[in-house]
Order: sequence, then structure tokens, then C-alpha cells
Amino acid sequence: MALTEQEVRSALRSVKDPELHKDIVSLGMVKKVEIDGTRVALSIELTGPGSPLRESIRKEVAAALANTDATEFSVEVTFRGGSPAGGGGAGAAKAGGGPTGPSGNPLPQVGAVIAVGAGKGGVGKSTVATNLAVGLGRLGYRVGLMDGDIYGPSTPTLLGIKGQAPTARDGKILPFAVHGIHAVTIGALVDAEKPLIWRGPMAHGAFKQLMLDNTEWPELDYLIVDLPPGTGDVSLTLCQLVPLTGAVVIATPQQVALDDAVRAVRMFQQLNAPVLGMVENMSYMLGADGKRIDIFGTGGAEREAGRLRLPFMGALPLFPELRINSDLGTPHANFDGPNRDLAASLEMLVSSLLAQVELRRAFPGAPSLTVT
Ligand code: ADP
Repeated sequence: MALTEQEVRSALRSVKDPELHKDIVSLGMVKKVEIDGTRVALSIELTGPGSPLRESIRKEVAAALANTDATEFSVEVTFRGGSPAGGGGAGAAKAGGGPTGPSGNPLPQVGAVIAVGAGKGGVGKSTVATNLAVGLGRLGYRVGLMDGDIYGPSTPTLLGIKGQAPTARDGKILPFAVHGIHAVTIGALVDAEKPLIWRGPMAHGAFKQLMLDNTEWPELDYLIVDLPPGTGDVSLTLCQLVPLTGAVVIATPQQVALDDAVRAVRMFQQLNAPVLGMVENMSYMLGADGKRIDIFGTGGAEREAGRLRLPFMGALPLFPELRINSDLGTPHANFDGPNRDLAASLEMLVSSLLAQVELRRAFPGAPSLTVT
């Protein structure tokens, strides 16, 4: 039987990106498969020149294709953003850099969709996502918050809507109108103490159905999507279905968190979602004497952002009030409360996000942009 593209793609699923822990087919890295009899010509797009697959890709493709009828193959390696791999030959360069989302945008009424991701859990991703949303709302923007963390939704607590059921119209969920924003969370539909266990395809389906197909999002200037930590299926689904304006990656400054944050950055880049920048959370704490207590190593995320040539969007120190207001579900208290440093840190993050979105709109194809 003649060799088919489907066979080749399914064989290539055994080749995994060691940084992203997913196979190159799911990651959309296989850009071209041409078959001529038993000869296969592939074009594979890696995250960048530093990709760990750069050296091993040909060997791994050979091993994968050994399980098919292919007798000969060639691999053209390109890098995201358009630069061909050294010696790649004519026609190896890929144009672009913009999102390769679907043609049918499921959220045409939304001006900008911003994903907030992190490599690790517990680094303050949901806290930052919520406060970015509320902070943008305070400036008069029409804002939505999509709690995409379908494994551990924290929006009900952060917005003080625990135990409240959403309303529906014509079979579609209406987002909660709360604290000046519109929010949807799976946490409002399930038992708060029940573990949410999703296999990969179920996670994809649950996120798509709940957040995109079955929610009536109003017209919005910004939709902030709080993603689960790591490089899993929900992030993949979002990037594939929605043309993202960009992603913000939250990291704490210690090395173990930064290592994972780098993987999250690489994932967004590979999925053609522009990374708007990195935020350092829990940067330091102010002691009673006003001195900084450097708990996790201030500046780690800024250095890493510099190394990755990404904008650094700002640092958010540890503030006990932020934790308390988050547990109470009173986000406006972060902006209006007595701690002016807390308000200023959050307002700076909001401004930084607005600046990055403006830059993206002005220069859509640019690989990364820094505000100076
Ligand atoms: P993630 O979404 O990354 O899992 P969360 O946003 O749920 O993390 O934050 C984890 C915990 O840390 C929460 O209790 C939150 O209130 C607290 N927290 C996050 N950032 C800060 C900060 N800068 N100062 C004080 N507490 C914080």
C-alpha cells in the first residue's frame, strides 16, 4: 500500500520535544510532508536555534520513519520567526511570526485575548491574571476573565463568587458580572471539593465547550485567560483555536521556577503565540523595618527575560495584603487599600501590559518587543 501523509505524521508522533514534553506533530512543528513513492520530504520548524532538537532531529526522524515503508527522507529545519537553519538551502525560510490560529475566530467580539501562563503552580499566576483583569476594568476597559485552569479553578475564591451558580440564556452561560469585569469559571459548575480529573482530549473538550462554544461573551476590549500551569492540553487548545494577542508568563525568581517558566515561554513561541513578556512575582518582601527581604532571589525573572530577549513587564513583591484580599475575594482592595506600594506594583503591571499590546498592534510581526 502506498505510503500516506497520515502514516508519516502518526510515525512522527514518537519524536518529542525534550523542553516541551510533547510530540512534534501535536506541537505543530511538522510544517510540510511531501511523499513521492517511498521518499519523504519534511519541513520541521523548531522553537529557535537553541532548540535541543536541532542536533538530534534527523536521527529521531530516521528512527520514527523506520516503522513505515519510507526508504529515503530529507528534513528541512527552520526556526520559528523565519530564520532558516544553517545550510538549510533555498526555500527553507518560513515567512511569518504572526499567530497561525484558525481562520474562524471563535471570539470575534474580543479586541485582545491575553493568555496568562506559568511553568509551575503556586507562583501567583491566577492572582496576577485576576488583578490584571480588574486593573484594566478600573481603567474603563471592557474586560473578561476566562478561568482556563480547569484542574484547579481559583477564580471563585479570588472574585468572591464561591457557591454562586452562573445564569444561562438560550443554553449559553452568561459570565458573572463582578468587580467591573465578566468572568467564567468551571469552579462555579462543580463541587468545590471534587477533584477535576481530565484526560488530555477531555481537557481539550471541556475547555473548548465551556469557555468558547457555550459561553456568551459580551463585546470586550480584553479577555484575560488564566491558563493551567505547565505546557499542557488547555494551552495547546487555546493557542490553536483562538488568535492570541499574546501571552504573559509569570515566574518567581528562584531557578526551579525559572526553568519551568522558560518551558512555558518556549511553548507559546512554538505555538506561534507572541510572548508579551515575563512578570516576576514574589520578588521580595518588605520587612517591618522597611528593608527588603530577598526570599527567592530578586531579579531572576528579569535576567531570564533578558536572556530570552523578552520584555520584562515588572516585579510584584510579596504583600500579605494581596494574599488576604485574594482569599477574601476583594480585588479592588488591592488598588484602593492603604498599601500604596501594592497598588502601584499592580498598576505598573497593567500599564506594562497595555504598552506591550500597543506595541504588538503597531508591529504585528516583530518577534519580541521591549518598552524602554
Ligand atoms: P497559581 O495560580 O500560580 O497557582 P495563585 O495565584 O493561586 O498561584 O497564588 C498562590 C498563593 O500565593 C495564593 O494564596 C495567593 O494569594 C498568594 N500570592 C500570589 N502572589 C502573591 C504576592 N505577590 N504576595 C502575596 N501573596 C501572593
